[in-house]
Order: sequence, then structure tokens, then C-alpha cells
Amino acid sequence: MEQRILQIVLDTPLDRTFDYRWRRQGDEALPQIGQLAIVPFGRREVAGLIIGLAEQTEVPDGKLKDVLAVRSQLAPLPPQWLALCGFAADYYQRPLGEVALPGLPKNLRTLTTTALDRALKKLAKLDAGHDGNPVNTPQLKPEQQEAVDAIADARGFAPLLLYGVTGSGKTEVYLQAAARILAQHEAAGEVAQVLVLVPEINLTPQLESNIRARFPGVHVVSLHSGLAEGERTLSWLAAHQGQARIVLGTRLAILSSLPHLKLIVIDEEHDPSYKQQEGLRYSARDLAVWRAHQLAIPVVLGSATPSLETWQHAQAGRYRKLQLRERAVRDAVLPKVKMIDMERDRPNDGLTSTLVAALKLRLERGEQSLLFLNRRGYAPVLNCDACGWISNCMRCTSFMVLHKPERRLRCHHCSLELYIPKACPTCGNVDLQPLGRGTQRVEEGLQAMFPEARILRIDADSTRLKGSAQNAFDSVHRGEVDILIGTQMVAKGHDFKRLTLVGVMNPDTALFSHDYRASERLFAQLMQVAGRAGRAGQKEGGSPSEVLIQSRYPHHPLYGAVAAHDYDGFATQLLEERQQAALPPFLYQALLRAEAAELDVALAFLQDAATCLEHPGITINDPIPMTMTRVANVERAQLLIECPSRPALQAFLRDWMEVLRQTKTRAKWSLEVDPVDI
Ligand code: ADP
Ligand code: ZN
Ligand code: ZN
Repeated sequence: MEQRILQIVLDTPLDRTFDYRWRRQGDEALPQIGQLAIVPFGRREVAGLIIGLAEQTEVPDGKLKDVLAVRSQLAPLPPQWLALCGFAADYYQRPLGEVALPGLPKNLRTLTTTALDRALKKLAKLDAGHDGNPVNTPQLKPEQQEAVDAIADARGFAPLLLYGVTGSGKTEVYLQAAARILAQHEAAGEVAQVLVLVPEINLTPQLESNIRARFPGVHVVSLHSGLAEGERTLSWLAAHQGQARIVLGTRLAILSSLPHLKLIVIDEEHDPSYKQQEGLRYSARDLAVWRAHQLAIPVVLGSATPSLETWQHAQAGRYRKLQLRERAVRDAVLPKVKMIDMERDRPNDGLTSTLVAALKLRLERGEQSLLFLNRRGYAPVLNCDACGWISNCMRCTSFMVLHKPERRLRCHHCSLELYIPKACPTCGNVDLQPLGRGTQRVEEGLQAMFPEARILRIDADSTRLKGSAQNAFDSVHRGEVDILIGTQMVAKGHDFKRLTLVGVMNPDTALFSHDYRASERLFAQLMQVAGRAGRAGQKEGGSPSEVLIQSRYPHHPLYGAVAAHDYDGFATQLLEERQQAALPPFLYQALLRAEAAELDVALAFLQDAATCLEHPGITINDPIPMTMTRVANVERAQLLIECPSRPALQAFLRDWMEVLRQTKTRAKWSLEVDPVDI
């Protein structure tokens, strides 16, 4: 009987391949590299990825196990996909199996053969897109046209920064560039695929329906974590088999198999949600650029407030900068940004009289307002005035947040939930006071102030049910809402046409954060949320839309830059500061994290790690407890490593990981390359 040794990687922390024996059954075809195989591992049966075939193995005959099944009905994952996973594994210092396998839809890894066959059959019958004529495409503005030409005419690897103010019609550029590239390849008789990444699941439905309307007959799929497993499997398979020509997704889509990929678009490329914050802590943006380089294709990074990394590449000429200076809709202008001094205009229920008057004016005119407060819940903490008790989480270094409608105290870090105590647990005082203000409390205050107004809150709590976020956004678009209150969920991307006022309630805390990225983020967030206003053409005689920012530091230079819509100036200043302070992007970092039941165990491991290897040219800082030291009864500490050279850092990390993997410790540890939250 014909047999082969299959070299397989599995989703385990062990950085190695495993050999299994394959024996031909009937007229079965020879397995191929890139196929999935089901194998026994310990007492379980797991899916593995075949990365090599051999005649022989060093595993002794008695120990060699047989492959249970090869998923031969599925086309092998292509070499370019394997190369992407290989790169990510090397760069982020993870075993290949831990990179390659978790990215595949769960169904693919666990499906019985019949169920996989059924999915494939369903896909074969699936109608490619819908019929009908494409909806009208708007006449591009000259700057948009230049951008589309630059993207569609690019040859080879071409990283392009599409730097356009909010509402400048970046989406239109993506769509028309995609259309040109698809058409070019079709004319040459080739299949082409386009990948469009967005930062938020909630942005996919609007964009997806736009794309479908614009590309009748083109198979469009979306890929994000909000899809049911069955749907996600179908989308993934459609991409893998080349049927889907346009794939719209969140960060995880960057790891999908796209054998005919010809263009990658990353909308709002600066957005922190492109960074995966657990498991393989990858940057979808960075992987996208690598992937484009590997495939020699264009990659478009779109933003009104590019990340400093991207901005620096553009300034240095490594990325080509395409600029859109004006809003696309006729007569739509950027809103006027005004600061409200909270020391002079003391807020009531969190709202200054200036902001209240502005809201009132919008209600009278029948226009929409948006209040932005990046804090959900009713109040961040419950407090006893009599004895000073506060609602600490018993499992974390954080507070239990008061959620009034749900009648619970909730920890946002470990998900612990408690009933709201009727009296102080320490002294029995029944008059417990909420301190501070979250979106629920603002909603309550507004309702009392404007009983007639239609007020809607959109945050993670109000949109817990599947479909509810979409319904909420739809009702805003239909004009059924007068005042919208929300967290960052409402700040990003949405094209709200009726909005003429944006109020920002309390952004000051980020000004004094210990995180050096906080001001870059705050600036981007304020520009984003401000960009939701004034997106429709101004009515004749109407006044321009406004953004009102409440602050105790109205003269802070960051706010000055926001008010002047001056990203360039702000970025130049920030880059100078980063260079002087030797911070990214002028320096490369990695963060070793350790957690254990006792803080000492975590710190001791990091201390050993800091000294276990010679490290010329690499700065290893002192191990320190993390700012939020305890989460869910686990103590956490970290060790920051820095180096001005990326290759030198990479070389050190490789050797270091080998030593660390041999270290005996009770601490659980992980490494993050290019960390964003330090
Ligand atoms: P951005 O992503 O840059 O914030 P959008 O892509 O959401 O901006 O575009 C803002 C609005 O401008 C949308 O309503 C879009 O339909 C419209 N738009 C884009 N390009 C044009 C154009 N060339 N002519 C007229 N309207 C346009
Ligand atoms: Zn008390
Ligand atoms: Zn907790």
C-alpha cells in the first residue's frame, strides 16, 4: 500500500511540525501541501495543516500515528497564504500552527466531511451577486479622479496613503479604483479579488449594500466575527475558491485565503481596532502592507488622521500620498469647531448651557445632534459619602460600573455582575451616590430636559442583541432620532446626513494619560466624531454645522489643532516630540507580559527573562506591574524591550523566545511585538 509521511502543524504552543503516516485508501489522491488533515493528537482529534511531504521520518514505527482524514475536497491553501502565515509567525514570534489554524473558520476545522461537502455544494449553486443595473456613479472630483488613476494605474507593490478630510469621498475612490482593477483583469481574462478592510463590524452593512448596488453580478462577501459560523464558512470558502471578487471585512479578514488578490484597501487605517489584542497580537494594517508587497499589488491606506507610522512613511516618500482636501458633497463644508470652557460655563447634568442651547436650536430646526461620550454605563463608580466606600471590583484593580437600566453593578474587565446594594456594605448608609457620568446618565438627563425629543443611545450595552446596532443606525439615517448619544461606536465612519451638531462631553482625561499614544488617539477620535457633522450640502440660508467641545483646558494645543482641522501641523509636532523622546515610530518595541496568581511570581519570571541572555544594542527596561495590575484575580506584570533597529530586535526576540520556552515558571506569559497599549 502506498504511504507517505505528512509533516503537519497544529494549533499548539509547541513550535514544531508533527509527522503522521498517510496510507492510500482506494484511489485516493496523494495529499498536497496546504491541505487540511484531521489527526489524533493526545486524546483528541484535531485539524492540522500539511506543510510538507516526506518518504521517511525519525518517529519510531510504533509511535507513528495515522492521519484520520485529508480534506481533499477543499483546494489546498495557496503558497502565498502559507507565506503570509509564515511571515506572521516569524514576526510575531509564534508557532506557525497558532497563526495558520485559528484564522480558519471553526467549521472548516471541525466539520464532518458530509457537512463540508454540503457547504461546498451550497456555494457552487450560490447566485453570484444580484442582477440589475449598477446605480449611478457620481462624477469624481478632480482630486478623487487623480487618486483613482494613481491606484488603478499602479504597477507592482504600491503603498498609497489616501489622506482625505472626513466626508471627502474616500469610499468613492475605493469603489471606482476597485471597479477599474476588476475590469482590467477581466479584460485580460484573469480573475481578480479586492479586499476592503474596515475597523468596525457596524460599518460593514452600509458599505456592503453600497458595494452590492454598485457591482451587480459581482460576488461580494463579508467576513467578520459577527457572522454565524455557517455564514462565515461560506464567505471564507467563496474567497478561498476565488468566487468572491470583493471581500469586505474587519481585521481578521487579512488572514483569509485570497488566491487572486489584486488590491487591498484599509479604510481608517489609523484605527486601533486593526490591532488584535489577544492571542496572536497582529496588526492587520501591517500584515496588509506585507501582503501587498509579497503579491506586488497596490495597497490603499485611507484616513483623515493617518497613524504617525503611516504619516512618516508618506513624508519620507516610501508611501505615495494622495490628498483630498475638500468635502465631496456640493456645498458640504467642514464643521466649525468651538471650545466651551467648563470653568466658566459650569455644566449641569454634564451639559454646559452653551451645549444645551445648541441642542435646543437643532430640535427647533428639526436637525439631528450627536453627543459623544466615551464611557458607557450610568456612572463609573458608586460611592458612600458617609464612610468613603466605593464600588471596587473584588477581582480587579478597577471599579464596578453602575448600570441603572439593567439594575446591576458591572465590572467591564472581568464581567462580574452584582445587584446594586440597597445600602452601603460597610456602614449601612442607604444614600449611595453615583460618581461621574456615563452614556446612560446623560440619556436620563436629556430626557428630563427635552421630554419631547426622540433620544437614542448607541453603545455596547444598547446593542447587545444581534441586529440591534443595525436597527439603531437605520433609524438615525431615516431621521427618526433627534439626539443621538454614543460612545466611539457612533464616531467612526457613519455618513449621517441630517447631523448638524456634535457635542463632545468630556475628552480631557486623555490629555494627561501616561500612554504616549493617548494624544494621537484623542486627536483622531475628535476629528472623526467632528467629521460626522455637516455631511450634507448646506441649505440655503442655513448656518454651518458645529462641533462643541466641553473642556477644562480649552486652550490646550491639541484642541487648537482640532479646531483648525490641522492634522499636518499636529502630526509634524507629534513626530518631533516622538523623535526627541526616542519613541515609536523612531524606535521598535516588544512587550513581554506575565500573569500569575501572585504578582511576585510574574515579576520574578520577568526578572529572569531580563537577564537570561546577552543583549547588546537592546534596551531591556525593569519589569513593572501593569497599570491595571489585577484582572479576574490574576496579577499582571510587563517588561518593555526597545531597539532602534527592527532587524536587530527581531534577531534578539528569536533567540530570546527559544530560551524563554525552556524556562520553568508558574507564570503564564506572552510576547507582543509592536505593542500599542503600554
Ligand atoms: P469619507 O469616507 O472620506 O469620510 P465618504 O466616502 O463617506 O467620505 O463620502 C461622503 C459623502 O460624499 C457620501 O455621501 C458620498 O456619497 C458623497 N460623495 C463622494 N464622492 C462624491 C462626488 N464625486 N460627488 C458627489 N458626492 C460624492
Ligand atoms: Zn458607607
Ligand atoms: Zn472585575
